[in-house]
Parts: sequence; structure tokens; C-alpha cells
Amino acid sequence: MAHKEPENLIKMRKNIVAGNWKMNTTVEEGVELASEVNDLLKGKKANCEVVVCVPFTHLVPVHGVIDEGVMGLGAENCSEHDKGAYTGEVSASMVKSTGASHVILGHSERRQYFGENNAQLLAKTKQALANGLTPIFCVGEVLEERENGSYNDVVKGQVEALFELSPEDFSKIIIAYEPVWAIGTGKTATADQAQDMHAHIRKVIEDKYGKEIADNTSILYGGSCKPSNAKELFAKPDVDGGLIGGAALKADSFMGIIEAFD
Ligand code: PEP
Repeated sequence: MAHKEPENLIKMRKNIVAGNWKMNTTVEEGVELASEVNDLLKGKKANCEVVVCVPFTHLVPVHGVIDEGVMGLGAENCSEHDKGAYTGEVSASMVKSTGASHVILGHSERRQYFGENNAQLLAKTKQALANGLTPIFCVGEVLEERENGSYNDVVKGQVEALFELSPEDFSKIIIAYEPVWAIGTGKTATADQAQDMHAHIRKVIEDKYGKEIADNTSILYGGSCKPSNAKELFAKPDVDGGLIGGAALKADSFMGIIEAFD
């Protein structure tokens, strides 16, 4: 008789590796990078879901070179408004119409450099969900908050900004924990620091939405994740993959992180 794992050991949530290209690559370079990753993934079945989040200008051409079922496509932001006189903005329905499935929201660079606040981020999340996009919602403390010990409360507050959502809507969200002091700095949170925060986030979700939704929420780690540290981070029970910046800009390093799930 086949061995059956006790129910509480079966992980229902998805493991995900998502790339965040930020403001990098021309359209031509981006299309080349995406097709390279797509081809490598076609040659081997990844043990996680793979998504690349790219600049708005790249969505349509990148969508044209990736295969459905091999990798997903996301934007790095969307407007909090539905449509209309918002020059320069890109709405969630526009993003959706490119063939994208995901959108990063609340990245620390958006919070820090563009002043995005909790109310706007809730509005953006509602727009994304209303248009059938999966938000990858970023949270994370700055160095000072890590050092003064307020990091758990800070991140709790960022997650709670979404607590107006119905349980059904909240269950569609992916959370990315990205300690700001680890983004692009080469300084990674230790696997234990990541696990502690991910378990904390899951508890915050459980207290509001219950155990089932908390257990089914994928929580990704982001911040100087690379092939050499991905395995240790992803081995932690509450770390369900990564949101990858710099290392997503080269097919071999991005693949090295995806392969941490092998
Ligand atoms: C990011 O910006 O989402 C990120 C995780 O960047 P990096 O991997 O370069 O630290």
C-alpha cells in the first residue's frame, strides 16, 4: 500500500520563483532573456511555478515568446484607478490585456521613491483582482526597523493594509517578504530570519482569515537571493519561493534559483 503522508504535512500552497526585472533591459534584450528562460524551462520541468515581471513596454513582446504553462508573465506595478485622465499611468485592465497574469504591488522601491502608501496599495490590489491579475504584494522593513526591533510590527501593518479584502479575494494574493536592507545590497536575510518572518506573516493572516487561507498563501522571500543561497532559504517550511531582482537578469542565475526546488 502506498505511503500516505499525514494531512498536516501536505503543503497545498504553490512554490513560486518570480523575477522582477525592474527598469532594466531594452525590449530586444528582454525578449531575448525571456525566450532563453522559456527554452530552458521547456527542456526541464520546473518544480515550481515561474513568473517574470517585466517593464510595461515589454509585456506584449515578451508574451509573444513565452509558452503558456511554461512560465507566467507579470507587470511591476499598475494604477489604482480604473481608467481616464491619468497621463502616464497603466491600468490593471491594460496589463491584463497584454496576456499578463500577475502584477507586483507595493515593492519597496515604489513605496520609497514614489511615495506609495497603504491606501493606494489597497486600491491597486483591488484593481488587480477585479481584472483577474494575481498580485505579488511586497512587504518588508528598512534597516532601522530591523535594528530597533520593530520589524514584526512594521510588516504586520503592511499586511493588515489588505485586510479590507474578502477572504475570497485575499486568498488570491501572493505575499513577498523583502527586507529592504537586503534588496540589491548583496546582504541576504539568513534562512532563519526569513523563516521567522514568514511564520509571523502566516500567523497574522491566520488571525484574520483563518488557518486554511493562511496555509494556502504562498509567501516568497526577496533580497539578494541567488543560486548559492536559494536552496537553504527555500528549504524553510514557510518560505515558498522567491522574488528575484538582480539574479533574474541572467538566464543561468535565474535557472539556478528555480533549480533550488529540484
Ligand atoms: C527585488 O527588488 O525584488 C529584489 C529582490 O532584488 P534583488 O534580488 O536584486 O535583491
